[in-house]
Amino acid sequence: MAQPTTQIERRGTEEQRAIRDSVRELCRDFPDTYWRKVDKDEEYPQAFVEALTRSGYLAALIPEEYGGAGMGITDASIILEEINRSGGNSGACHAQMYTMGVVLRHGSEEQKRRYLPGIARGELRLQAFAVTEPNAGSETTKIQTRAVRQGDRYIVNGQKIFISRVKHSDLMLLLARTTPYDEVREKTQGISVFVLDLRNVKGKLDVQPLDLMINHHTSTVFFEDVEIPAENLIGEEGRGFSYIIDGWNAERILIAAESVGDGRWFIDRAVSYGSERVVFDKPIGANQGIQFPIAQAYAHIEAADLMRFDAAAKFDRKEKCGAEANMAKLLASEAAWEAANICLTTYGGYGFARDYDVERKFRETRLLSIAPVSNNLVLAFLGNKVLGLPKSY
Ligand SMILES: Cc1cc2nc3c(=O)[nH]c(=O)nc-3n(C[C@H](O)[C@H](O)[C@H](O)COP(=O)(O)OP(=O)(O)OC[C@H]3O[C@@H](n4cnc5c(N)ncnc54)[C@H](O)[C@@H]3O)c2cc1C
Repeated sequence: MAQPTTQIERRGTEEQRAIRDSVRELCRDFPDTYWRKVDKDEEYPQAFVEALTRSGYLAALIPEEYGGAGMGITDASIILEEINRSGGNSGACHAQMYTMGVVLRHGSEEQKRRYLPGIARGELRLQAFAVTEPNAGSETTKIQTRAVRQGDRYIVNGQKIFISRVKHSDLMLLLARTTPYDEVREKTQGISVFVLDLRNVKGKLDVQPLDLMINHHTSTVFFEDVEIPAENLIGEEGRGFSYIIDGWNAERILIAAESVGDGRWFIDRAVSYGSERVVFDKPIGANQGIQFPIAQAYAHIEAADLMRFDAAAKFDRKEKCGAEANMAKLLASEAAWEAANICLTTYGGYGFARDYDVERKFRETRLLSIAPVSNNLVLAFLGNKVLGLPKSY
């Protein structure tokens, strides 16, 4: 189905518009039928991720000195937006973009040389980021997975849940407690970040795939005496929580952009179908019960997109952007969900038929309000850190 390109969508510099066009071109090789099959068969979109890697776009944020494209967050966000806009799902690979930021900002020069050029060349995948645990979801500081130093290695025991892409990754970024919660003065202390090489695990690593609403290759991971060489500790022991917080703004901006991409996809589909489908002798899109909610969702998506570009520009200028990044993520994921709902309403019963892709995108876009961070926690951040209201978390 043709995708109308609005003037509004051409935000960004000339170079950024060229990135948009080029990613759009790449995505044309992966039409609805590709994503539909991958979803139905619960496959990993291997061919797509390989094409994206070959194009260099997956290494967008890796600096040129380590073999990457050295792009900014605005550029990277356009890449992910276009993937979702085309009907695809960036969730298959987006984590690599923000996960490697922890290595880039806090890793030693030796670690950067060891991992980043391989990731940029597509020989290494750093797609798994293990934070969430059954007893520590939104409350990350309550993680119980322990890494205990023994000589030149750490021994890891514990359990992670909802860890995506483990089976499609060579490396995992792992958050573990090196000092137990009740032995630290500040709850954010005593947490460390490691790179775990999944190709050569010593000890027992048990990966149990979860059966979820969407095709996300997400698993529970059990660690039993898993060994990690001490040289794979990122930065200083006990400071890992601050390292991952550093990456949150980038993550939120990228998720906002994916949401904008989804939102525009839903609007396109709703407009096309609403203009074509005739009931009671007129196109259903002429009815205000259909037309106005589409127009409303469209306005919300475009407003969220402005916030996303504002947050991204501030991030690229290295200015403070916590408020903007969180608002962009909140507004864009809500607008995408609003567009998903009106798109499904517009399609009526056909919205439930797999062949129209609306139900797939509907399921996929719902995730963006919950993961990688729930919108309630985004609101809690805005309420407390931006507005100064009492803390609830
Ligand atoms: C498909 C999928 C993929 C994922 N991939 C990864 C991954 O790769 N790596 C990883 O580490 N994690 C991953 N996650 C986990 C995800 O980040 C968490 O599910 C999410 O952060 C919420 O944690 P939780 O599910 O434990 O919810 P909980 O923390 O149990 O919270 C439940 C609900 O209560 C709300 N709540 C909690 N406290 C407050 C409060 N103070 N005020 C208001 N509301 C509150 C939450 O916002 C949420 O809506 C994934 C999850 C899914 C579903």
